[in-house]
Amino acid sequence: MQVNDLPLQVVELIRQAIGEPPAALHEPSFGEAELDNLRSCIETTFVSSVGPFVTEFEDRVEEYCGAPFAVAVSSGTAALHVALLIAGVKPGDEVLVQALGFIATANAISYCGAIPHFVDIDVDDLGISPVALRDHLERVTVHRGGVTVNRVTGRPITAVVPMHTFGHVGQIDEILAVASEYNLVVIEDAAEAIGSRRNGQHAGTFAGLGVLSFNGNKTITTGGGGMLLLSEATAAQRARHLTTTARVAHRWHFDHDQVGFNYRMPNINAAIGCGQMQRLDSIVDLKRRLHERYAAVFSGVPEFHLLHEPEGCRSNYWLQTLILQESQMHLREQLLEATNTAGFHTRPAWKLLSDQTPYVAAPRADVAVARRKSQQIVNLPSSPTLVQRTL
Ligand SMILES: *Cc1c(COP(=O)(O)O)cnc(C)c1O
Repeated sequence: MQVNDLPLQVVELIRQAIGEPPAALHEPSFGEAELDNLRSCIETTFVSSVGPFVTEFEDRVEEYCGAPFAVAVSSGTAALHVALLIAGVKPGDEVLVQALGFIATANAISYCGAIPHFVDIDVDDLGISPVALRDHLERVTVHRGGVTVNRVTGRPITAVVPMHTFGHVGQIDEILAVASEYNLVVIEDAAEAIGSRRNGQHAGTFAGLGVLSFNGNKTITTGGGGMLLLSEATAAQRARHLTTTARVAHRWHFDHDQVGFNYRMPNINAAIGCGQMQRLDSIVDLKRRLHERYAAVFSGVPEFHLLHEPEGCRSNYWLQTLILQESQMHLREQLLEATNTAGFHTRPAWKLLSDQTPYVAAPRADVAVARRKSQQIVNLPSSPTLVQRTL
């Protein structure tokens, strides 16, 4: 293959894997249960913050994930915000987060008055590298009375938010070990990872505090929505309280004992979520089959490879990910151009958080791997329904 043919060759390979365009990046897939539940919301008038589907959705997610407690909220970002508050993150703290990630994670840290501190990723699983994390902490921190302090900024570093990138569960046990050495609370950003497990354990349940998203482009959706996964009853109670305007329970009085948030998931969104939970296993199954399709057509092309699930991880393959060899990185823009023009919706990885305008001055480690990877990645059409099309 000639180097400058690569973008068109990729278009042809995608066509071989999923058939004729168009194909969106990720479309939701719904069934009768979602419609029935929505109809029941309208008929009973329970469309808002009161209604039976919210509790049912929480129960279903708890059971599916094996999480002791689940609290449904209006978005993954809201879930991250509340998780950080429950973790005890305070204004002026620094919170470690990977440089290659979605802006919501850094923003949630900012909502707490804290400062994101960017660290590098693992070259294979694209999650936080536990080795780079430990090296960086060793170099830039001192212990002061049980607190890890950034010796450059003088600020306490109190938490770390590993992300399970594109649905692949990263090296969470190793990250937890580093965190415990440095007295950091861990919040798992499992926004992309519902249906993904490592050694049989569901993403977002390793640290005792984790977050899911049900935005429209995620593996399953509630329109908009998120969930906190928690291991402790007191933390779950605090989450419920904070997300419902911190109102003290009473039949008619409005007594709020702190500044709370209107973050509770509406019943109408949970109604969709209950239907989606019944389809989750089959959706993950279809997405895994889609990965096999892409793997079959892309194998043997030396210019790039497909991102596979890490060892020990059974991934939901939220977004299928093509990784260009470093020598081919310069072709990424042409590849995005050719595929999108052909009607196959592809997209690059996020611009590094450490390069985003609000965070250009934020503290950071050497993030060379994240920088390189962000230029090599192209996400491919990943809807579960794509494997059901006739080729
Ligand atoms: C989608 C996503 C979020 C935010 O979730 P919303 O429900 O869109 O607010 C946070 N982190 C990651 C990694 C995500 O992919």
